[in-house]
Amino acid sequence: MKKSKFNLANDNKKNDETSRIVCLGIETTAHTFGVSIAVEENGQGKILSNVRDSYTTKKGGMIPNQAADHHVDVCDVVLKKSLDEAKIKIDDVDVICFSQGPGIGHTLRIGAFFARCLAHMFGKPLVGVNHCIAHLEIARLVTDATDPVLLYVSGANTQVIAYEGQKYRIFGETLDIGIGNFLDCFARELDLGFPGGPHVYELSLKSKKYIELPYVVKGMDVSFGGLLTNLKQKIHKSAFGKEYTKEDLCFSAQETTFAMLVEVAERALNHCDKRELVLGGGVACNKRLQEMCHKMCKDAGFKFYVPEPQYLIDNAAMIAWLGLLEFKVGNILNVEDSKDSKMLPYWRTDDVIVNWR
Ligand code: AMP
Ligand code: MG
Repeated sequence: MKKSKFNLANDNKKNDETSRIVCLGIETTAHTFGVSIAVEENGQGKILSNVRDSYTTKKGGMIPNQAADHHVDVCDVVLKKSLDEAKIKIDDVDVICFSQGPGIGHTLRIGAFFARCLAHMFGKPLVGVNHCIAHLEIARLVTDATDPVLLYVSGANTQVIAYEGQKYRIFGETLDIGIGNFLDCFARELDLGFPGGPHVYELSLKSKKYIELPYVVKGMDVSFGGLLTNLKQKIHKSAFGKEYTKEDLCFSAQETTFAMLVEVAERALNHCDKRELVLGGGVACNKRLQEMCHKMCKDAGFKFYVPEPQYLIDNAAMIAWLGLLEFKVGNILNVEDSKDSKMLPYWRTDDVIVNWR
């Protein structure tokens, strides 16, 4: 990452008491195309707009090149709507930010290209941010949490993250698929459509019958692959619809996987000697997961925070906000060098030096 001619962060005008920094953020790591405007005014951060359009299907899962086509289709309208809602003109924007990774190559490429074009066209500095870290930083903005453990539960990612020694370190994670992908694959097997998590939740409310399922926690890591295979086998067995129903399986899948997640979150809180737990990622919208985390925190004496749903699912507000924090400390990409702003599909949370905290 090079410093470019745009190091406005060192401009005295921007750092004094009456400063205002306006940041435009773009999110495209997977199914969501989002644009948001975040500002910092006199040291106070605020989200002025957070507009999204997400790719969905009625049947089957997400097809990466169709998701990318979706993002190309909606990018102009989402950009305009976000600027209009924030009552900001593109000329008033100080910096363009985008989620540089991790994520699906097909969709990340659209965001990286779109952001670099805007930066070039309008002569703005460009910041590439890590999507997982953005989930944690937006929680610090919109809740009272200051130094939390993040239980990050999204489509592709499942990580337990906390700040330690200038990095957001991963203390536990999935050894195979993310919890969201697990729910989506399970839902696809039941013909429920994408995204599957909300459908599984709705069906789970109609059952209280627990079917024994594999519970896989290894230290602070979790694994869902074997559990998914086990569920697929159950769906295609003769007992399906007789001894147990899809409602029972949805209930049991949630109870099992969420208990695994709560167990590793609690262990990480104790290990890191932190007092606050926050939830992030689309699966964090799940009311049963929230309830289980709330109970664990209450029993163990931790504080528990859940940002509102618009900041849990993939969103551009968190990209704009982290981009703004990074811009202030000069983490700026060289717009002229296309390699500097290339997408990073496998970018690890703990590869980033946190120089803004
Ligand atoms: P993200 O990648 O963070 O946007 O999260 C997307 C994932 O969240 C998908 O796998 C969805 O199935 C899942 N999801 C969204 N809402 C819910 C919910 N209420 N319960 C469980 N999973 C959900
Ligand atoms: Mg996410």
